[in-house]
Amino acid sequence: MDNKFPGKDISDEDLKSKFPLTAKKNSEHKSKFEISGIEFGGDLVPIFAGPNMVESKELIMDVAKNVKEIGAHFLRGGAFKPLTFPYRSKKYNETREEGISWLGLAKEKFNIPVITEVMEEKYLDMICEVADILQIGSRNMQNYPLITAAAKTKKPLMIKRHYGSSLRDWLGAAEYALIEGNEKVILCERGVSVPHTHRATSRFLLDLQVVPAAQEVTHLPIIVDPSHATFWRSWVKPMSLSSVASGADGIMIEVHPDPENSAVDPLQPISFEEFKELINSMDKLVKSISNRYILK
Ligand code: PEP
Ligand code: MN
Repeated sequence: MDNKFPGKDISDEDLKSKFPLTAKKNSEHKSKFEISGIEFGGDLVPIFAGPNMVESKELIMDVAKNVKEIGAHFLRGGAFKPLTFPYRSKKYNETREEGISWLGLAKEKFNIPVITEVMEEKYLDMICEVADILQIGSRNMQNYPLITAAAKTKKPLMIKRHYGSSLRDWLGAAEYALIEGNEKVILCERGVSVPHTHRATSRFLLDLQVVPAAQEVTHLPIIVDPSHATFWRSWVKPMSLSSVASGADGIMIEVHPDPENSAVDPLQPISFEEFKELINSMDKLVKSISNRYILK
């Protein structure tokens, strides 16, 4: 790879010595694998949808039913949450073991696979009974003991990019999973922190350049989470469409039956109707620019 541009912080030598498993072996190399019957890295662009937090059994059942009907491939939702501030209220509180069991009920009843976050090794076995994909949150991207333990379970992993990390550090985290022999690893861009230039718009800046940048050097699928990146629901549609256009291998979107009353980050989720409109627009767009699709 040409390394004369300062923005490309990964050299050919690095690819061989630091990322032997994460790096592409040739320009055509792209991982393709199935998770619970859904193909990654192929013609399908899988969609993950659901609330930020698994707030209650009723909520997760309602969301699972609706997003599945609308066309989502995975149900997302955190029961163990890395909440930025330690203060809790009845509403603003993790549902932990109960939340995981509700995800299990929703998965069974509506036949939709589940992605959920793991923050501590001691809960891995319990979470693995329900999760189809283990999410390593942005804040744990460099928690190498957690990534190693999660990878050892052989459950597929999705590693969110820390908002302060380079592509180089992110791929280093993926290498920790691959070295355990876990081949089903997905990367997720969720916005980076660029304080001085970006404060005027939102907390994070969606780094869509990282999609082609990562795809140039790694064979792993790269998905994008525009909800966490933008923080404002009105920007989720334009940035989701841009993510699809950038070649993302999947999209994760926060969807809530009553977005303004989401227990966490109520400014960012979209409603079922908005999600339906969005998935149709993304499907139309991806079909018009490639041989890929979202809806059958
Ligand atoms: C999430 O997806 O629920 C989440 C907490 O995301 P992030 O780690 O990107 O902040
Ligand atoms: Mn969140």
